[in-house]
Amino acid sequence: MKFEHPYIPLHTIKDLITEKYGISLYILRTDLTHPQISGNKWFKLKNNLIEAKNKNINTLLTFGGAFSNHIAATAAAGKEYGFKTIGIIRGEEYSELNPTLNFAVKSGMKLDYVSRSLYKDKTELYKYANTKYWEDKFYLIPEGGSNELGVSGCMEISNHINLDFNYICCASGTGATLSGIILSLKKNQKAVGFQILKASGYIKNEVNTWLLKYPKICIPKSNENNNPIIENSLIQINWEVNENYHFGGYGKTNNGLKDFIKWFQQTNNVPLDFLYTGKMMFGIYDMIEKEIFKRGDTIVAIHTGGMQGNLGKDFLAIKKQNLKFQ
Ligand SMILES: *Cc1c(COP(=O)(O)O)cnc(C)c1O
Repeated sequence: MKFEHPYIPLHTIKDLITEKYGISLYILRTDLTHPQISGNKWFKLKNNLIEAKNKNINTLLTFGGAFSNHIAATAAAGKEYGFKTIGIIRGEEYSELNPTLNFAVKSGMKLDYVSRSLYKDKTELYKYANTKYWEDKFYLIPEGGSNELGVSGCMEISNHINLDFNYICCASGTGATLSGIILSLKKNQKAVGFQILKASGYIKNEVNTWLLKYPKICIPKSNENNNPIIENSLIQINWEVNENYHFGGYGKTNNGLKDFIKWFQQTNNVPLDFLYTGKMMFGIYDMIEKEIFKRGDTIVAIHTGGMQGNLGKDFLAIKKQNLKFQ
């Protein structure tokens, strides 16, 4: 199985704010990696798909909310690389599919809805999946594509940045992307993860758990880029999680955020999603204006994708359905 490594543009962001504060800001457009397997999900799925193929498994089973970028990406990847896909979806089924689930079904994914309480209990949830789908001999991918192979795939993100930077920023839902990035950094580079869930200490704990597993298990054979294994002493100091920009939690928003996303798109011609990348970029600009980032700093923001999620927001607005992102 061959994965073409995509060309991922690194855009320069220059506007009144970056100029005023003397910041060099770039955005790595991993949202352009693939039309449907967008952003960090491409990096998280890649090594998992290779592993599934190596094991001769042809069904992928995974989990997600009804608007999940990961569900959309897995469905698309299954179609493109010849896997059957099963998506276990959190919450009730509605008579009309939202754009995410509609896309998933069109891509051939079989959907199975489970209650929120079952979804929450991962032991029970996995038991349910194993019992119901044992005949499919599936390859299980956890929610968000966040497992060890997912983290190892994200170690390749920074290979696409061909300039010196001192900060690299991403939005964090499970912390797998941030962990991969941390493991790929050089001295004098620092990763900042913007936590988008309202749960104090959550991402910090998750990342610490991932990092503890490295470098022992580290690089799977499928990682053809041979990222160097970085020193333990470095991975304790080269990252932080910022919890100030979750806007009240997953799916929560306000007018300030909406206005910012609109302003950013109009000024810099880069669209952002309102669940992840909008919050990260809002945070970066706020930290620039508060001079937490200092004059002369070079910041690379990772556009992790998620644009399909904005369709879900429009869908909800039109339907005025009493649905929630979580
Ligand atoms: C899934 C997702 C994230 C979160 O990535 P984690 O590895 O779970 O932290 C960030 N941004 C976007 C757009 C996503 O779809």
